[in-house]
Amino acid sequence: MSGYTTSQLREWDKQHVWHPFTQMQDWEQEEPIVITRGEGSWLIDSEGKRYLDGVASMWTNVHGHCRRELNEALKAQVDRLEHSTLLGLAGEQSIILARRLAEITPAGLDRFFYSDNGSTAMEVAVKMAFQYQVHRGRAERSRFITFRNAYHGDTLGAVSVGGIDIYHSTFRPLLFETIQAPSPYCYRCEMGCSGPESCGMKCLDALEALMIEQGARCAGLVIEPLLQGAGGMIVQPHGFLRRVRDLCDRYGLLMIADEVATGFGRTGRMFACDHEGVVPDIMALSKGIAAGYLPIAATVTTGEVYEAFLGRYAELKTFFHGHTFTGNPLACAVALKSLDLFESDRLLDALQPKILRLQERLAEIACLPHVGDVRQCGMAAGIELVEDKATKRAYPWELKTGVRVCLEARKLGIFSRPLGNTVVVFPPLSITPDELELLLDGLEQAIINVVEE
Ligand SMILES: *Cc1c(COP(=O)(O)O)cnc(C)c1O
Repeated sequence: MSGYTTSQLREWDKQHVWHPFTQMQDWEQEEPIVITRGEGSWLIDSEGKRYLDGVASMWTNVHGHCRRELNEALKAQVDRLEHSTLLGLAGEQSIILARRLAEITPAGLDRFFYSDNGSTAMEVAVKMAFQYQVHRGRAERSRFITFRNAYHGDTLGAVSVGGIDIYHSTFRPLLFETIQAPSPYCYRCEMGCSGPESCGMKCLDALEALMIEQGARCAGLVIEPLLQGAGGMIVQPHGFLRRVRDLCDRYGLLMIADEVATGFGRTGRMFACDHEGVVPDIMALSKGIAAGYLPIAATVTTGEVYEAFLGRYAELKTFFHGHTFTGNPLACAVALKSLDLFESDRLLDALQPKILRLQERLAEIACLPHVGDVRQCGMAAGIELVEDKATKRAYPWELKTGVRVCLEARKLGIFSRPLGNTVVVFPPLSITPDELELLLDGLEQAIINVVEE
């Protein structure tokens, strides 16, 4: 322990720490919870109060906090080597990790480019896709097809391929333009559809029309497979991803799958693409890769993309991109141990009954008068609160309804963070069945307390 009191820590936090995605004027009026310890699915604050981690520490945690085997792997590695660069040197842990990942990523994806977070993994993907086209003599293919409502990170390239106006519109003058396709979101996508299936079809038709018109100028298409996370836990209808893959093939675009949120078991399979047997050309991995312990990311591609970059030095086909902490051995060692735990805990099998239970509880919660929609993809879910259930009219965003529900949940010992008026369920995959009940009971009660009286 630091020896500082909670009030000292709070005061210094307000003096010095600028929190992400946070209106600091509001923050300064609050008494922030100061987290000092973690244990399984729980976070523990400086006063000893326990909170169930309902968002897996920003969607990263897989096996729980302070899992003994992961801690030991980290400690063992730190006594051998804390960091050494991949610029000019190879590293034991990053080699073994790439080999292990190649065994589980979709067939043919076996060339790993490391970086340190989801945004950089996507920057790498976008630059790699464009330069690949250049090397094939298709420099005119400089644009990208993206989806409305998409989120790929907060650096400028990642923001450019994103589609959430409230986060992204301020920065529009700094961004490159993309071709935006509608995403299947049924009653919010303005396609005038009658349900998720017809919505998917209409969106695919619109996507194909864009490709016919502008596909020959596009390097690639960027998609969050199965689930648009930060956009509000929007789930694509079954078969959508497969059809997107087929369209990319037909019109010669590289398919870039952003599995930063969906990767490593979140959807019930190791990767979201596995549900539809889709092999993207480029896939971005981060959040769950090191079980939530350390920042690390990988952009993985095929031999075909990789080989396009080979040539004599003077041909300048080199991929001139890199980050200082690329391939960090501590993060790689934890990531390797995490993959062991997936096997020894039979984590994906253990997940199936929890996913079914989540589905049952969401169906109950969907009956509440101000719940407009519930959406689920494996162990990720969103509960969308609406002012009017019949018309799905949204609460005005200024009311911060989602935030108020999460503050109420906090009183019940649950930490969650909403996406607008959508309450998020995204616990560590290792959550026990009892803890999952606690989490859903607590969120349901918080919704009732805030919007249903
Ligand atoms: C979180 C997220 C990112 C960005 O990752 P950071 O590590 O926060 O930069 C990119 N894509 C998706 C789908 C994400 O959920």
